[in-house]
Amino acid sequence: MSIHAPDYVRRIAPYQAGKPISELAREYGLEEASIVKLASNENPLGMPESARQAMMASVGELARYPDSNGFELKAAICRKYGVPAEWVTLGNGSNDILELAAHALVQPGQSVVYAQHSFAVYALATQEVGARAIVVPARELGHDLDAMSAAIAPDTRLVFVANPNNPTGTFVPAPMMARFIDSVPADVVVVLDEAYNEYLPAELRFDSTEWLRRHPNLLISRTFSKAYGLAGLRVGFGLAQGELTDLLNRVRQPFNVNSVAQAAAVAALDDEAFLERSYEINMQGLQRLQSAFARMGLEYVPSFGNFVLVRVGDAKEVNERLLRAGVIVRPVANYGLPEWLRVSVGLPRENDVFLAALAKALGRD
Ligand SMILES: *Cc1c(COP(=O)(O)O)cnc(C)c1O
Repeated sequence: MSIHAPDYVRRIAPYQAGKPISELAREYGLEEASIVKLASNENPLGMPESARQAMMASVGELARYPDSNGFELKAAICRKYGVPAEWVTLGNGSNDILELAAHALVQPGQSVVYAQHSFAVYALATQEVGARAIVVPARELGHDLDAMSAAIAPDTRLVFVANPNNPTGTFVPAPMMARFIDSVPADVVVVLDEAYNEYLPAELRFDSTEWLRRHPNLLISRTFSKAYGLAGLRVGFGLAQGELTDLLNRVRQPFNVNSVAQAAAVAALDDEAFLERSYEINMQGLQRLQSAFARMGLEYVPSFGNFVLVRVGDAKEVNERLLRAGVIVRPVANYGLPEWLRVSVGLPRENDVFLAALAKALGRD
């Protein structure tokens, strides 16, 4: 006898996270300090010092529940983005926001639209509510927005779009994205996942929050896990008009963002200098990796995030050789990309260690 559970839960393939450094050290008998991890798109600079201090100052209050409404963090977000507090949802990572949308809006059997090779959590959020996935084939590894718009069915309740996308690093310019959002029926919610927004170069930046005013069905999600350097704390947020925000709030855990995370996020949000350094070091590292791939004759997808997708052939074998050399990157066979590896941009030294190990793994040294 096995436990009663919905078939749609039994069918879920659990999320595969990047290998932790401690696990590789244990399995391969390596020194943790010698391992380079470029597998989860974390900020190689570490956390901002401003956030560390805010965290330390907040730990004295840990016997108490956090502020369920996240007053201070919402106020900081409102100042920065010029939206009312009624438009902000805080999440335990932006992953939480993606799931809140699925839980609040989709019934079993209804459909959710997202692109092939887009973020793995869209599939999970769809499956865990028993919904049907409409996966739209990618075009040149990026979102085919016209096809996504055309794929929306009468029972579609949610559309997930990542811009830039993970794991491909592709980006859709603002006018095309705006046209897509206009094309979605007003009663179908679009989740615009902008986890990598802070890495966009100035000329491609645009204020997507402007679109919120015209579209009560738009939910923008942002995270503190990438450019803000706080992945371990789990904080993200969603921006949407009041009606949609109210729906998300109904299915939210009352204390979904802990107090240390709230304090750190307030400090990080105001730390423009840290954000600027994160951007700069990423741009330099991205160029270093991409030009090295070009020199090595490896196909790669020009990236707008803090990672690059590179085609290495037998990615499983190459990954194994990289692991043995103490370098953790991300195989993406589970994204339907068995010949590719996704490598996060690291510090200059980390990028060099990875490139040397890659050359060796490919027999090019
Ligand atoms: C990393 C990432 C997230 C953010 O995850 P958190 O839960 O905020 O840590 C969201 N969307 C995409 C596309 C990502 O790559």
